[in-house]
Amino acid sequence: MSAVLPTYEDVVRASEILNGVAHRTPVLTSTTANARTGAEIFFKCENFQRMGAFKFRGGYHSIARLTPEQRAAGVVTFSSGNHAQAIALGARELGVRATIIMPLDAPAAKRAATEGYGGHVVTYDRYTEDREAVARRIQEETGATLIPPYDHADVIAGQGTAAKELFEEVGELDLLFVCLGGGGLLAGSTLAAQALSPNCQVYGVEPQAGNDGQQSLRKGEIVRIPAPKSLADGAVTTHLGNLTFAIIKAGVKDIVTVTDEQLVNTMKFFAERMKMVVEPTGCLASAAALDQVVPVQGKRVGVIISGGNVDLAAYAKLLAA
Ligand SMILES: *Cc1c(COP(=O)(O)O)cnc(C)c1O
Repeated sequence: MSAVLPTYEDVVRASEILNGVAHRTPVLTSTTANARTGAEIFFKCENFQRMGAFKFRGGYHSIARLTPEQRAAGVVTFSSGNHAQAIALGARELGVRATIIMPLDAPAAKRAATEGYGGHVVTYDRYTEDREAVARRIQEETGATLIPPYDHADVIAGQGTAAKELFEEVGELDLLFVCLGGGGLLAGSTLAAQALSPNCQVYGVEPQAGNDGQQSLRKGEIVRIPAPKSLADGAVTTHLGNLTFAIIKAGVKDIVTVTDEQLVNTMKFFAERMKMVVEPTGCLASAAALDQVVPVQGKRVGVIISGGNVDLAAYAKLLAA
């Protein structure tokens, strides 16, 4: 894979490719959130994006960038989460075959959602097989192109279109909070902020249990941690990518963390006050702003809500607790 870093020009090109395909999601405000923090907060609602998360942007964009020959051979990825659904839906829209490699014990609902978007699911045994080896075998057999969930220039550029839309809609901001797993969304958002709001301080927000990004930023190199346990299942990655870390290191002010309890309280806030279903991972950035993990008083603050895909039974249990 090329190690060339994506730039804001790539984000602009991605937004042209996604125009009319991805939703231009709404930016919402809440009087309660503003009163509570003394800030003016703008929520970019990617929970209303197609397939329920920003990942559709990077997934579709990456497939659209393939040559006709590459498209004919299909795409492959490994994920049981939103990236799987994004690749499945993006591929279907573009008439490309998508193979999604999932652990045998992935939740039935996630598998069904991916198949519902037309993805071809191949399972592997997490305890005895290496998913990357399975992906390589499929690539060798079919010539399919591997599309990883975050460490890929076209994925990063696609994810950056959400923040681009936010700045275009509300103008320059003092602070921008973005959730952080492998760093595709944060890296893309950083490119947009540098171009459209150069004085904006960009913060990444991770689950406290999995602060590898924070450790990496402090240390100046990618730190790997054991698989963390957090309600934020979209952000329990063990390390950042080479491309995402390079952009984050150069442009992000700091990386902060929030607890699972803060995520649940934020989910409740969205349900009760803003009438929105937001998944725990989607609450990371908002929790940091609402709980003033970074002081926000008197500032114009952007927050990206990354997704809204929940298991309803688990969601109801968390809200009732
Ligand atoms: C994937 C995902 C994240 C993390 O995104 P990265 O680009 O890996 O940092 C955050 N929230 C949701 C809802 C996701 O699906």
